[in-house]
Amino acid sequence: MNSTYDTDVLVVGAGPSGLTLATSLVSRGVATTVVDRQAAGANTSRAAVVNARSLEVLEGLDVARRLVKEGIEAPRFSIRDGARTLIPIDFGSLPTEYPYSLMVPQSTTERLLLDRLVELGGSVVRPKVLTTIDQDAEGVTATFDDGGVIRARYVVGADGLHSTVREQAGIGFEGGAYEESFILADVRLSGDVPADEVILYWATAGLTVVAPLPGDIYRIVAPVADAPETPSAAYVQDILDTRGAGKGHITVTEVIWGSRFRIHHRVADSFRAGRLLLAGDAAHVHSPAGGQGMNLGLQDAVALSDALAAVLAGGPDTLLDEYSAARRPIARSVVSITDRMTRLATLPRILRPLRNIAFSIVGRIPAANRALAWRLSGLVYR
Ligand SMILES: Cc1cc2nc3c(=O)[nH]c(=O)nc-3n(C[C@H](O)[C@H](O)[C@H](O)COP(=O)(O)OP(=O)(O)OC[C@H]3O[C@@H](n4cnc5c(N)ncnc54)[C@H](O)[C@@H]3O)c2cc1C
Repeated sequence: MNSTYDTDVLVVGAGPSGLTLATSLVSRGVATTVVDRQAAGANTSRAAVVNARSLEVLEGLDVARRLVKEGIEAPRFSIRDGARTLIPIDFGSLPTEYPYSLMVPQSTTERLLLDRLVELGGSVVRPKVLTTIDQDAEGVTATFDDGGVIRARYVVGADGLHSTVREQAGIGFEGGAYEESFILADVRLSGDVPADEVILYWATAGLTVVAPLPGDIYRIVAPVADAPETPSAAYVQDILDTRGAGKGHITVTEVIWGSRFRIHHRVADSFRAGRLLLAGDAAHVHSPAGGQGMNLGLQDAVALSDALAAVLAGGPDTLLDEYSAARRPIARSVVSITDRMTRLATLPRILRPLRNIAFSIVGRIPAANRALAWRLSGLVYR
């Protein structure tokens, strides 16, 4: 079998997980190749929250500082029913350099990660689509749609929900998809809306998230029975009127970007199969309730970089099993919590007022609010 390598680590996918992994590996001097099926600049806004734990793990890559410069600090997070706050969460007293949710569009996070990768001498080969993988005792042979072949010691699937690496590795992806679809809109608003707080409105009519983004933009996310392909201003206005602070409080003045999506809740059976490893959405997907998805991927990536760099430097191969064993329970726990949140958000209408009474009782218990702050900030996974 061929034992010469084109690269030590082939990273498939240049989303936030793949870019973080590649940046971290290159910063340690590991020969790394990154490929992505998309042409440059084809990414969209999507994840809007970078949490405290992600900023902590990105410090070592000199990316946290750059993100903070471009984002908005939101030290507060609340669950509300109309004008009434049910659960107030304050990140301000958390023991971290970053006592807030950093609000920044995913496209900016990816741009800053890519800038850092390039600064360190790395790059992304694109568009390049992985089609098949063969692994043997010494390495992995990856074949691409252009007929090209790359031989690597290890391949990481950071290739998202429909991961080719996961499929080629034969790793199961247990779970399912929710019935409801979600609308997502980046809008401009006028009226009574804070620029330093993420608000989840749990109205009887349904859930709505209102979250600030840089540039006086707000991200609106809401589960709906049948989402339009692109939500209009009138559609978003109706959601805010019926589910938000109430009619007349907030006016949608412009829809900048909108989309719809369906949500899966799945976790890979293992994050490792021999020389193939998984990180990010390739390994776990769940509801965006709580803004954890991208954050988990960023944190996987740094943990996997630690393990791969150590193994390539002669450390025991079991470090890669430990990566899977450590990260998979975290993913399972996030999937199960966000699954419960999503089910609570989509309870039959008649039960929603009762749910909100329960929330308001929980909201008066400081220890419960603190526990939520630790979880949402990711610090609980330190
Ligand atoms: C509409 C929407 C809203 C969301 N909102 C939030 C949010 O508010 N908060 C949050 O935390 N998360 C959110 N998410 C989830 C978040 O976007 C993902 O968790 C995050 O993008 C995962 O990053 P990743 O790098 O693991 O995968 P991805 O971002 O999916 O990147 C995978 C990359 O792999 C490439 N690729 C795929 N297959 C191949 C192949 N065969 N060959 C080469 N390249 C390939 C793709 O082109 C892509 O660039 C949202 C997702 C969606 C769709």
